[in-house]
Amino acid sequence: MTFEEKQADYARLIVKAGAAVRPGQKVYFACPIECYEFGRMVVKEAYLAGASEVVVKWQDDVTARMKYEYAPIEVFAHFPEWTALEMNSYVKDDAAFIYLAGSDPEAFKGVDITKMQAQQKASYEPMKEFRKAQSTMAVKWTVLAIPTRAWAAKVFPGMNVDTAVTRLWDAIFATVRIGDGDSYGKWMKHADTLAEKCRILNEWQLDSLHYENSLGTDFTVGLVQNHRWEGGADIDKKTGDRFFANMPTEEVFTMPDRRRAEGTLVAAMPLSYRGSLIENFRFIFHDGQVVDFDAEKGKDSLQALLDSDEGSKHLGECALVPFPSPVAEQGILFLETLFDENAACHFALGNCYETNLQGGAEMSEEELKAHGGNTSMNHVDFMVGTKDLKITGIRKDGSEVMVFENGTWAF
Ligand code: ZN
Ligand code: ZN
Repeated sequence: MTFEEKQADYARLIVKAGAAVRPGQKVYFACPIECYEFGRMVVKEAYLAGASEVVVKWQDDVTARMKYEYAPIEVFAHFPEWTALEMNSYVKDDAAFIYLAGSDPEAFKGVDITKMQAQQKASYEPMKEFRKAQSTMAVKWTVLAIPTRAWAAKVFPGMNVDTAVTRLWDAIFATVRIGDGDSYGKWMKHADTLAEKCRILNEWQLDSLHYENSLGTDFTVGLVQNHRWEGGADIDKKTGDRFFANMPTEEVFTMPDRRRAEGTLVAAMPLSYRGSLIENFRFIFHDGQVVDFDAEKGKDSLQALLDSDEGSKHLGECALVPFPSPVAEQGILFLETLFDENAACHFALGNCYETNLQGGAEMSEEELKAHGGNTSMNHVDFMVGTKDLKITGIRKDGSEVMVFENGTWAF
């Protein structure tokens, strides 16, 4: 396949596998303005797949940053009502949502964090209904990435930027199984493999998982009762269509009990959070809560994350990714969670996914919390998986089963 053929294949994969666009369906499409040529390819593929209308939203980090620099905080503290109305109306129309990420990981480095927090707080309530539609898979949505120049330059520092962009494209193609044809078929097969792991883990209904590795992780996390492991394809509630909320995706994940996490958890990779890098960090948990932490770099950002609300100090996601994954095989740090979280086992601080608990999508916030679910305005993934990671599953009767050995599946 030539480079251009791979791009065309990617655009098609986004529409057909990622968002599983049906004839007659409306498509909401967000794309970095810098990548307009590829964006147009996606729009065309969506129409060819029968989309009735593609609503295009061009995104731009540079002007978004100007707003943080020049606009007063009141602007961020006010969330216009029509924004939520607009998004909810697409849900009502049963649109499919396609988001192309590709941000410079340091696009917002140094901007006033209180403005970001004000914006996030202001949008939290009005956007609740829309977020819920996405998190409960009441609509089809997909997030993928596309190289921008600023991002590629950060991933391959010192390299000619044009070369870096091409290198990043190649890395992305490899992680989304594009190369020698039938990418759609490969994705369906991959989804079947992950579904089988979930089936077994769901049958086991482990009480907790114990993590150990040479970085110093010695950590036990409780799983909520009647938890559900999910991974690979997502299922649209209305149509039963398979779609992929994230591409690449190598993980199976479930709901940790927000009240049960104990011990030391050491990050295995840096974390890019709100435009800054947090490096060599670790958490100490007690009774489910972060009670101490340290970071060699970006400690302030980590502090701000933990302080943003109560739920940010608790876990909301527990994910297993075998080592090495196609993402890890690229041997690069993508500085983008979409990829880096698929390189290794991870956890997320903050909001849980309701669907990881049987009946969770129908529960109120209070009920969810009573079952051990976590709620927060944040959901921030951080990687803990290494090649020597060992994970022991502990059943309710105290007996043990190996889940991971030498960084990969033990069953
Ligand atoms: Zn995850
Ligand atoms: Zn996550």
